[in-house]
Amino acid sequence: MASYLEGLNSAQRDAVESTEGPVLVLAGAGTGKTRVLTTRFAHILLSRRAFPNQILTVTFTNKAAREMRERVAKIMGGPVEGLWLGTFHALCARMLRRWAERVGLTSSFSILDTDDQLRLLKQIMEAARIDFKRWPPNALMAQIQRWKDKGFMPGQIPVAETTDFANGRAEEFYAAYQTRLRQLNAVDFGDLLLLMVHLLKTDQEVLAYYHRTFRYILVDEYQDTNLVQYYWLRLLAQGHKNICCVGDDDQSIYSWRGAEIENILKFEQDFPGAKVVRLEANYRSTQPILAAASHLISHNEGRLGKTLHPGRNDAQGEKVEVISLWDSEEEARTVGGRIESLWRSGHSLNEIAILVRAGFQTRSFEERLLTLGVPYRIIGGLRFYERAEIRDAIAYLRVLEQPSDDLAFERIVNTPKRGVGDAAIRNLHEAARAYNMPLHDAAAKLVAEGGLRGKLATTMRNLLEQFEDWRNILATQGPVVALDIVLEESGYIAMWKADKSPEAPGRLENLKELSRALADFETLQTFLEHVALVTEVEAQEDGAKVSMMTLHGAKGLEFDTVFLPGWEEGVFPNQRALDEGGNKSLEEERRLAYVGITRAKQRAIILHAANRRIYANWQSSIPSRFIDELPEEVIRHSGSVQPQGGRMAPAATHFPVQARRPDAWEVQARPARTQKIPVGARVFHQKFGYGRVIAADDDRLDIDFETSGEKRVLDRFVERQDG
Ligand code: ATP
Ligand code: MG
Repeated sequence: MASYLEGLNSAQRDAVESTEGPVLVLAGAGTGKTRVLTTRFAHILLSRRAFPNQILTVTFTNKAAREMRERVAKIMGGPVEGLWLGTFHALCARMLRRWAERVGLTSSFSILDTDDQLRLLKQIMEAARIDFKRWPPNALMAQIQRWKDKGFMPGQIPVAETTDFANGRAEEFYAAYQTRLRQLNAVDFGDLLLLMVHLLKTDQEVLAYYHRTFRYILVDEYQDTNLVQYYWLRLLAQGHKNICCVGDDDQSIYSWRGAEIENILKFEQDFPGAKVVRLEANYRSTQPILAAASHLISHNEGRLGKTLHPGRNDAQGEKVEVISLWDSEEEARTVGGRIESLWRSGHSLNEIAILVRAGFQTRSFEERLLTLGVPYRIIGGLRFYERAEIRDAIAYLRVLEQPSDDLAFERIVNTPKRGVGDAAIRNLHEAARAYNMPLHDAAAKLVAEGGLRGKLATTMRNLLEQFEDWRNILATQGPVVALDIVLEESGYIAMWKADKSPEAPGRLENLKELSRALADFETLQTFLEHVALVTEVEAQEDGAKVSMMTLHGAKGLEFDTVFLPGWEEGVFPNQRALDEGGNKSLEEERRLAYVGITRAKQRAIILHAANRRIYANWQSSIPSRFIDELPEEVIRHSGSVQPQGGRMAPAATHFPVQARRPDAWEVQARPARTQKIPVGARVFHQKFGYGRVIAADDDRLDIDFETSGEKRVLDRFVERQDG
């Protein structure tokens, strides 16, 4: 037997050696699917069935792509150029460059980013006089993306998939958008696949070319392909029919991006006689980790059903830990402490990961690791203080603290859009140079002396006045309140609320997290110093580092030790899944939990905190239902707060608190408002003084103030005076 096959079990070997004809490997986490794929690539080369560039490989992680590249290099005695190995998008972009003329492009076409896409769509909608408030361009952009994910060109959209957006004109705008893209010699991300599928369908020559080129097709993480990706694979595979897809229905976590689990079922229909291989031995994790993950995922319905058993000799291992803590600070301290002691006892930081449900959660761990001097990297995202929305918010704070901070001023003067364009900013710079003043002061001088015209004068006056107001609030109410009011009144929050892109909710969460971070500091100045120090830390290029990433980004990866913090209702499963009510999104959350636990080789540590701060208030939180769904035999509970009967209750020794609701976390360090303020109530607002409520919705109140007239404000800044 060839040496590279020796380490494999018989099912894996079968999957590797069944090179001819369609093969579907359907198996649970850590059973060696990716390893089968890389070995299969090697096997095809070494058995001289094909040359390296006759194999098309779709990988999900860079790690898998790198591994394959290294392997090919070893086999071929040096690096090989022109491998067809990468993500769907990268592969399609390369194909499309070759045939660009056939879809009305030239080979130098550009790929637009999301900002450009939106700008284009807005121009089209503007020309049609569409009211953006009523019909947000973002929403149409998302709709177009969904159509593209399903492979619909304009004019091909079935009735069931149409929308009444803009009174049924969505498809017309989609068509205009596509025309405009072609005029600009540009495509968006969705086009890469859409146009390639279109070409393969309609142009026999192109199809025949790729059927000749690709003798073998390999696809990792198949459960997360969407329809248009599926069509692309099916068209390409119809030539030699040597396609091997590996996947796990329990790890399908991208349905929000259009992934269709049904693609797994369709495979067997579209490729009759396909060989289905099941792998059941898990080589990654210890028995307790595996038992915990398997038991958890068994709560989902409608699974394809798989068995998993430990494949390692040393599979006996530590129990899965569930650590119950007081608050998120303690959570960060605990994780930091654990990492430090692992590090000290010789574990590599590269083998440690912190996996979070949402990006905002990294902040407290980042700060803790920085304090401890433990190097870390964020995979698939930016460090907390480098994220755009955080930089914007901090720029506002910097201008508050230090009006002469020109960089900060320039960053926010037109964010959100206020009509202060590039020309206006150039003029401001000129004035600043001429007066030898900071931008902020030059703007004030121009306003005072009537040096600005029309709308710009009003905008600038208002903004400068707002900054004066906000500085007063900062002086009287402190930084947290000031930040809240700044983000609200500047329209910055509204800007992201109106944004319908998938990233927008995460940005709003990050802003809330910023407010939480700020609450730990006495003054704005000490906070800004802290931020400056935190962001200054040089990213050392090499050397071992702890990895931090979202659960979505962790797919396919593995680490000795995995920390899974924030397992609380509303965080994980996240609030949106809970709000939707149905089982569908909850099951997807559970699959994410399964992905998370199965990343661990030796140690899985789940944490949850009893209290989270929301703005200046504390909120108690309930442990995630997923913790209750873990099998007791393989779990070890610990922490400063003791679990009781599956649910958690505070340990009396640590925190003398009164129990009111026995089934939930108790204790509110600071009271949160429970009662709504009714219309007609007399109130006091921290900034505008006394007034009467004239309307109320959600968390806003319209108030007729005695001195400043009608205003819409956040209810948490309002105190009732008559109740
Ligand atoms: P996931 O579903 O998480 O993507 P996977 O099925 O792709 O997992 P791999 O990442 O290929 O699993 O393998 C998991 C781990 O088990 C890897 O460290 C791999 O090297 C190891 N492994 C796979 N097969 C064997 C084997 N036959 N003997 C020993 N180790 C193996
Ligand atoms: Mg894998």
